[in-house]
Amino acid sequence: MSRVLVIGCGGVASVAIRKCCQNSEVFEELCIASRTKAKCDALKEKLEGKTKTKITTAQVDADRTEDVITLIRAYKPDAVLNVALPYQDLTIMDACLETGVHYIDTANYEAENTEDPKWRAIYEKRCKEKGFTAYFDYSWQWAYRERFEKAGITALLGTGFDPGVTGVFCAYAKKHYFDTIDTIDILDCNGGDHGYPFATNFNPEINLREVSAPGSYWEDGHWVEVPAMSIKREYDFPEVGMKDMYLLHHEEIESIAVNIPEVKRIRFFMTFGQSYLTHMKCLENVGMLSTKPVMFEGREIVPIQFLKALLPDPASLGPRTVGKTNIGCIFKGKKDGKERTIYIYNVCDHQECYREVESQAISYTTGVPAMIGTMMVVNGTWKKPGVFNVEEFDPDPYMEALNRFGLPWKVEENPKEVE
Ligand code: NDP
Repeated sequence: MSRVLVIGCGGVASVAIRKCCQNSEVFEELCIASRTKAKCDALKEKLEGKTKTKITTAQVDADRTEDVITLIRAYKPDAVLNVALPYQDLTIMDACLETGVHYIDTANYEAENTEDPKWRAIYEKRCKEKGFTAYFDYSWQWAYRERFEKAGITALLGTGFDPGVTGVFCAYAKKHYFDTIDTIDILDCNGGDHGYPFATNFNPEINLREVSAPGSYWEDGHWVEVPAMSIKREYDFPEVGMKDMYLLHHEEIESIAVNIPEVKRIRFFMTFGQSYLTHMKCLENVGMLSTKPVMFEGREIVPIQFLKALLPDPASLGPRTVGKTNIGCIFKGKKDGKERTIYIYNVCDHQECYREVESQAISYTTGVPAMIGTMMVVNGTWKKPGVFNVEEFDPDPYMEALNRFGLPWKVEENPKEVE
């Protein structure tokens, strides 16, 4: 039994909230708070009468710690689930610390203004020391560890699918299938088709920033960085088929490298169609992916935010997306002295997700684990003071919950490996 404050009411949030409402024994009361309260009210209206969970709504600007503190003090939740944007991670963590409330999110901190000289100096130092140039990294949130420990509250970071379920798959493989893991390849395949020449499946700004950045992987204790989209492989995904996939930098590589230090190489691949890549390259070449404000007809606009306004709202893709996703990890290592390779994965059908929660599989595969991670914290299964990534906890109850709440997984022995 718990009372949870959900911040954000976009694609991922709406799935997480619906899943909480399906699980009302754990989620007795929810407050949906976001920048645009009308979206929270509309979702509340859709769900009322169909769930035992008691829902309230609120307006909040989560960029302002004081506003989040005021809301937490008024609502008195046991935990805050942050499904707004990675830009708000630190302000919400600060508010949780101030009020002694558990914190859960699905993406690590990223600065909104990457031109800010103070942020840039820290970023450039980190790039030199660590060897990867992504705008996001865990150093900001891991720096809260001691303060969360002292306050006796839990921060669970990155409980979406990737990061999230992929980290839990790693902990599960290590616990049940391997004595040592040598390599991990994380594969994220979206075999869905929404019928538009170009659209992003989740927040366009976050998505486009991620795929236009240099790729990197972990090998023999250090990062290897490569130009964006320069490593391409083909893979025949179970239930989806043959797809092109590209090596990207991804945040769970950073935490898995720390938490399972024996692993010699960790890579992340995501599938992209040619049309998506051609559009993205063109938008990048003309400056539309820039986060730097420009003057247009007497007012300042940020090109990528303007682009977001032109693109289809990810939340509107649900009814028109057909096909399946296949996301998982290929592990190679040793058990009882013998070599072993397995692929642990989930397949999710876009149309089935839409029928259940009025959303496509990308928001579904993130929103379900967001609910499960929150449940693990509020029901005490994964509750301990400090700041944690998912692979640091016992994976078994989370893996059971995935089967129960719509993301069943499979283990394939001797899968085809990625070259
Ligand atoms: P959306 O853009 O659909 O939703 C974001 C929501 O946050 C909107 O409701 C928005 O409000 C709200 N918001 C933005 N800024 C603020 C603010 N300052 N104060 C309060 N509310 C705010 O994003 P998604 O649902 O696609 O993504 C949500 C999160 O999930 C992101 O952090 C994303 O990185 C993460 N994610 C994680 C994945 C994983 O597998 N781990 C995969 C996909 C996404 P408004 O409606 O007013 O704009």
